[in-house]
Amino acid sequence: MSAHILLVEDESAIREMLRFALSSAGFEISEAEDSLAAQQCIDAAKPDLILLDWMLPGLSGVDFTKRLKSDEATQEIPIIMLTAKAEEDNKIKGFESGADDYITKPFSTRELLARIKAVLRRSQGEASENLVIGQLTLDPKSHRVTATDVVIDLGPTEYRLLKFFMSHQDRVYSRNQVLDQVWGSGVYVEDRTVDVHIRRLRKALEPHGLDAIIQTVRGAGYRCSAQS
Ligand code: CA
Repeated sequence: MSAHILLVEDESAIREMLRFALSSAGFEISEAEDSLAAQQCIDAAKPDLILLDWMLPGLSGVDFTKRLKSDEATQEIPIIMLTAKAEEDNKIKGFESGADDYITKPFSTRELLARIKAVLRRSQGEASENLVIGQLTLDPKSHRVTATDVVIDLGPTEYRLLKFFMSHQDRVYSRNQVLDQVWGSGVYVEDRTVDVHIRRLRKALEPHGLDAIIQTVRGAGYRCSAQS
């Protein structure tokens, strides 16, 4: 898999280690030591994935992620956040900023490569026919989600979540099954992550009166259905 990865990390020793590991694995690497330099790299050549440190001088990794995910030109670029902080609050904050995945330092090269490959697999290889439930339509070719012709803005993870549910309507999935299907089975993320993104998805559907299609099935998981 030859993809272009932008590495954003202010500590040169870690950057060097990552550059070595990733280029050995066949990736094309560009590097930046802060958000400003990273933005210049992105403007010059859009990467296939961004590996972004949480703690950066100037604009933090979290705020930079928010900015990238709210800009139409960059919101499709998957972001894996690197952090030394293991606290739950920070993880949730990381996900709410729109990061696609999260990895805590110290991590092994093998773990990092597995995450990168899983995220790239999800962001590439998509396809085909419109999915429809009630008034909601998802077009996988354009990544456009509409409710009676009004476009609904979704983050990349919410889009994948909705696409999975719309492809598997009227079936109940546990959090773990959703994690395996939407995040990938080789990837370690916590169950709560699913809840965070379900909440964001419902919030996006709510103004269109469609949040009830994503249903909580007590003690079992989640289901997507036009019937309440
Ligand atoms: Ca740092």
